[in-house]
Amino acid sequence: MSQELHCPICKKIVTTANADFPFCSDRCRILDLGKWASGDYKITSPIHDPDLLEDLEREQNRMREN
Ligand SMILES: [Zn+2]
Repeated sequence: MSQELHCPICKKIVTTANADFPFCSDRCRILDLGKWASGDYKITSPIHDPDLLEDLEREQNRMREN
């Protein structure tokens, strides 16, 4: 069974059977590398841990008070 994903570049359906998975083609794989290299992707780390979020909020409040 092969898994299907959307190519992160062109959103075409790609299966795990594809040699360039998770990209649909060599072209998209290279484009993606280029994006990383040019800093086009921002590092985003969504916070899922509520404790961590709470700590962060507390820290931000503390900074505001000072
Ligand atoms: Zn693609």
